[in-house]
Amino acid sequence: MAIPRFWRETPSRYNLIGTKCKNCDTIYFPPRLICPKCHRKSIGKLEPIKLKGEGEVITYTVIHDGPKQFEMQIPYIMAIIELDEGVRLTAQIVECESNEIKIGMRVKSTFRKLGEDGKAGVIHYGYKFIKA
Ligand SMILES: [Zn+2]
Repeated sequence: MAIPRFWRETPSRYNLIGTKCKNCDTIYFPPRLICPKCHRKSIGKLEPIKLKGEGEVITYTVIHDGPKQFEMQIPYIMAIIELDEGVRLTAQIVECESNEIKIGMRVKSTFRKLGEDGKAGVIHYGYKFIKA
């Protein structure tokens, strides 16, 4: 399937961009091409929507062991966050001690360098969350 135009034209790397189904008003993140509620009726009806990136912690886990790229940050916190728009996502919480985090805590998204591909010189960015 072709990458939709908006995905290429939107500076999505630095924003949380979801999609909204114009048929049933449900918001999805990550973006979807088809609404799982409306199926065929949603074709062509999903439009990009910029999420504010603010929400609250639904649940979290403190991880003491992890993939190599996180090595410098162990222990780190992974949380399920419900954004104010009603969508849930899983993200790392940064700048927060493991004894500070609480269920229901307000958080907001921040864009961080995730890593660098030395040979290609490509820098990867992604979203993480901090205390709001
Ligand atoms: Zn729908």
